[in-house]
Amino acid sequence: MLAALLYGREDLRLETVADPTPGAGEVVLQVAAATTCGTDLKVWRRGGHAKMLQLPTLFGHEVCGKIAAVGTGVSGWQIGDRVVANNSAPCMKCFFCQRQEYSLCPHLTWNNGTFAEFVKIPAAIVERNLWRVPDGLTEELAAMTEPLACVLHGIARSNFQPGNSVVIIGDGAIGLMFVAVLAQQSQEVYLFGGQDQRLQVGEQLGAAKTFNYRQLTDIPGTVRQLTSGWGADIVVEATGVPTVWEMAIACARPGATVNLFGGCPKDTTITVNTEQLHYSELTLKGVFHNTPTYVQNALALLASGSIPFDLLLSDRRPLKDLEQVFQEMLQRQVIKVPIDPSQG
Ligand SMILES: [Zn+2]
Ligand SMILES: [Zn+2]
Repeated sequence: MLAALLYGREDLRLETVADPTPGAGEVVLQVAAATTCGTDLKVWRRGGHAKMLQLPTLFGHEVCGKIAAVGTGVSGWQIGDRVVANNSAPCMKCFFCQRQEYSLCPHLTWNNGTFAEFVKIPAAIVERNLWRVPDGLTEELAAMTEPLACVLHGIARSNFQPGNSVVIIGDGAIGLMFVAVLAQQSQEVYLFGGQDQRLQVGEQLGAAKTFNYRQLTDIPGTVRQLTSGWGADIVVEATGVPTVWEMAIACARPGATVNLFGGCPKDTTITVNTEQLHYSELTLKGVFHNTPTYVQNALALLASGSIPFDLLLSDRRPLKDLEQVFQEMLQRQVIKVPIDPSQG
């Protein structure tokens, strides 16, 4: 089969590799749609990821496909079933899993390799994080289950109450998904980003107001103007840039929760004003990844059709376009692109 492999920094190669065959407990999917993700772009540019993968590796992690082969001992799944496979599954046995803190499991089984005609799904994921796609939900929308699950996990950890004022910093797919979900429960969702086209998508997804940071000199000051002088109830940082983490904290009102969602480069640090943190009783929250429950909830939300998530998607592209697609993501010409390996 044809598959994309990542060898290092901006070193992505399409190669012909052996078709995967499922071992005990595993299944193999024929990939119908594998959406590109900001994390893929980051990993491609940085040439690695602390947790998700080791080079060289099959690449890509968001997928909807049809079961093409079933290993021994797998029950409940048939060839032809249309499914979403999350890119990880917790071990269920460790200190953290026993406390239902599944995203902190140090033994997460990761899976990469969705930018390929077929992808093998490890037994742990088959058992705990493989989900049937409801009829009527398109494959490219279903493939977005994983990032949406991360967003639902992020919202659940943000102390959000309906009606809260929310500032979202970052107009990538993740920032826009935060806007879409939170705007269902608040009239005061404000999006700060760097590109007018994406900010328009944010408005279509329900943002009350959007701002291009290139045209602002004082983002925290702008936030205070929007929020009776105090700052936002909830701030979500979705860029993964340390200076933006610091700015996100500056946008928070006393008592706010700041969700530092975008993962920064390795070994970076930020400075926090101790007086503000203490006397303003801020909650600074790091949130990573997702859990099987949020994966299930995300798929249900996509299937409900209540949010036009297709605004984030471009047309399907063949696997041979992948490198070009990364360049287009880098230039911010596209948000998410469904790769369809059946097109070659
Ligand atoms: Zn992703
Ligand atoms: Zn565990």
